[in-house]
Amino acid sequence: MEADNDIQTTPRGFHCKLCDVNIPNKPSLGDHVKGKKHQHLSRLRAKRKSQEDSSVFVSGFTPETSRTQLHDYFEQFGPVAEVIMDKEKGVYAIVEFSEASGTHSALAQLEHRLQGLKLRVKPREKKEFKLTSGARHNPKKPHVSLGKLNHELCQAATVNEQMQKVVETFQLSEGDRKARELLVQLLQEVFGEFLPDCQITPFGSSVNTFGVHACDLDLVLDLENTKAFQSRARTSEQAGEERSEDGRSEDSILSDIDLATATAAELLDLVAAILRKCVPGVHKVQCVSTARLPLVKFNYRPLTLQGDITINNRLAVRNTRFLQLCSALDSRVRPLVYTVRLWAKQKQLAGNPFGGGPLLNNYALTLLVVFYLQSVEPPVLPTVEQLKAMACEEEVCIIDGWDCTFPSQPFGVPPSANADDLCTLLFGFFRFYSKFDFPASVVNLREARALPIGDFRSGDEEMHNAPEGGASKHRPGHAGPKLGPVNVLDPFELQHNVAGNLSERTHRSLRHELGEAEKYCRSLQFQRKSAKGKSWGLVRLLAPRGEPGTAGRDASYRPPEICIPFRTSEAHGRPSQDDEACRAVWFSRLCSAVELVFRDVLKCTAVEGTAWQEPCKTQDVGTVEEAVEEPSAEGSSSLCKAHAGVKRPLTADEGPSSSSSPQGKRQRLEPLAGHPESAHWSWVQTQQVWAGRRKVRRDLVKTSDEASQPEGGSSSLESRVTQRIAEKQADPRDLVEFSVDATVVAGSESTKAVLKFIPTNDVSGHFQDFFHFLESFLPKMVETKMAKLQ
Ligand code: ATP
Ligand code: MG
Repeated sequence: MEADNDIQTTPRGFHCKLCDVNIPNKPSLGDHVKGKKHQHLSRLRAKRKSQEDSSVFVSGFTPETSRTQLHDYFEQFGPVAEVIMDKEKGVYAIVEFSEASGTHSALAQLEHRLQGLKLRVKPREKKEFKLTSGARHNPKKPHVSLGKLNHELCQAATVNEQMQKVVETFQLSEGDRKARELLVQLLQEVFGEFLPDCQITPFGSSVNTFGVHACDLDLVLDLENTKAFQSRARTSEQAGEERSEDGRSEDSILSDIDLATATAAELLDLVAAILRKCVPGVHKVQCVSTARLPLVKFNYRPLTLQGDITINNRLAVRNTRFLQLCSALDSRVRPLVYTVRLWAKQKQLAGNPFGGGPLLNNYALTLLVVFYLQSVEPPVLPTVEQLKAMACEEEVCIIDGWDCTFPSQPFGVPPSANADDLCTLLFGFFRFYSKFDFPASVVNLREARALPIGDFRSGDEEMHNAPEGGASKHRPGHAGPKLGPVNVLDPFELQHNVAGNLSERTHRSLRHELGEAEKYCRSLQFQRKSAKGKSWGLVRLLAPRGEPGTAGRDASYRPPEICIPFRTSEAHGRPSQDDEACRAVWFSRLCSAVELVFRDVLKCTAVEGTAWQEPCKTQDVGTVEEAVEEPSAEGSSSLCKAHAGVKRPLTADEGPSSSSSPQGKRQRLEPLAGHPESAHWSWVQTQQVWAGRRKVRRDLVKTSDEASQPEGGSSSLESRVTQRIAEKQADPRDLVEFSVDATVVAGSESTKAVLKFIPTNDVSGHFQDFFHFLESFLPKMVETKMAKLQ
């Protein structure tokens, strides 16, 4: 029965949710279900379930309490199989009984006391069993490669298809969503222990349907019910009762703070303390009390995720619901928002990676898309006022005096009469905003109108959102929106300009990029697929700012290159008369060495599907595989996909670097069977491995027995240098994503491998530094590696 639930039918066959694999047909499905992996995971799941049923969650003890003490205490309810204590923080434990009856007896007892401490004993949360590689979660996030995406976009038939591809590539996966849900559950469980009746709710891109793989997790901690709980508990205490009527007493953490009068800073400190002390895996907890909405930031190590907690931020939860509704009202909204978000990120107009900053934030950008969709003829989305009129009485929602009423479901909203396709709408977006007078207008989604800015300056604008009872557009005692070069009113909190942080410079870039995008969308290259396999449509639209990104846009652009000369002595020890064979084997070995340097020495992450695959064995020359000393990282073979095409090598005259082209006779050399002469990788570098490298190397040599080596002379030393740099730097984040195209350029005297470097995502602007470092480091390091591969 459970096996049936694991199998989903898909357009291409079947998908096993338990093992997370696709299966093409019925016979293979039968084999899969009977197979080792599926059987093993089924057994594991059954075991986990029985463990869950026979265990309890215990808290309320101190870090000094030992495992044995807990074990001995719980033995009175039945034989205890195991006590698992949270090692990191030591504030809770899972007690597992040998039989489920132990759990029942323990839960049946109303009060538990151990050495004067009152223990809290709860049933375990039932968590969905999920596959994690090697039974442990793999913290590496999937890296989205723009290099690979570009390749796939070029293959698509239409811009519409390309936009759908963007969504598929970037959207949060089911696994991502589940992992985030589990973290919210964990936080709810822990915070609920200390702050009874509190509610943790996710908002923002994790749940608004526009989330991407690495987006942050925005959370609201709602303490309204906890406040009520505290006041009840205090009243009963004053009346001399030990417990409140619902059987719980005020916890010690609550007795230190009065939620009704606490300042925002005190509440943040409380949240930060709980995160630091009680949530395993949480680190880098930081209160940001200067933000418009004070918040606590944290990192969650198991998912390499950044989280933000704001308190009682109900408006944000509501505007997230609004974006969800917009997304559900019309299927074109998501592809459009994803494409515009990606465009803005590539052009360095949006992102603000560390929170505050002068760029657009994704929320403001999404509102701009919604406003455009409200403004097209006929509209794709209704105005907020129209939505409000469609809501029923139960859906009326007023938060902090702002009217946030709209229907909770999309069903009651009539479908749009607009039949434009995605390509037309995207072009329309750029046309609309390239003509939009941002500094003179205030974007207002309530009526899909651009209001003249003068009205806001003089403060005589009519009330647009006065709820019954008279809350005005500007809340009493508050000024109007902070005006700037770009003004986008929040659809609910009408005194707030969500783009109020934008600098004049960002505004200028925005205008410039909108104009460029509009011009490009008018061209045939945007609208029509290239018959010659050139980049077209979104590929050129999404090229990073300042980078041509793709061939054709700027004919004078040449990606930076590093050349590695061919040396016959490296060619597997074969005599030089067999030039072709030597060259082929040499290039194979070079590619293996390049891959090892990026992966093992510089700790770059290969983007899925673009790793080099060694050529198949040929009897004639043997293989590089036989000679590789350093095995591939576990599991990397499944990531590897042959991406290296077998091509005729370019002659020096045709080659990408004409600077060193010999004028001698050309040779047309054919590649040896099974040995491609071009290769392609996409990598992500997450640390500044070049920063202070020489000093770190010197220090390492001083403190170890290792003999001093020139840069690139020893792979073990260089790997340790990288490791040491990484330890000193901040948490890894995607600094620069780049692709490498390696080709053999053959000439009679100067055969060489040319490695072209193309930055595919360089929002943080590190590519130049990284490339500069590689210019001197890579040739020597590759040479060292190749010598090892002989
Ligand atoms: P991402 O995290 O992928 O950049 P996001 O939609 O989560 O996208 P955040 O900047 O993290 O954007 O904001 C999270 C949520 O906080 C938004 O969905 C919105 O509800 C609220 N929010 C963000 N910025 C503002 C703002 N300037 N004004 C009002 N609410 C905002
Ligand atoms: Mg967010």
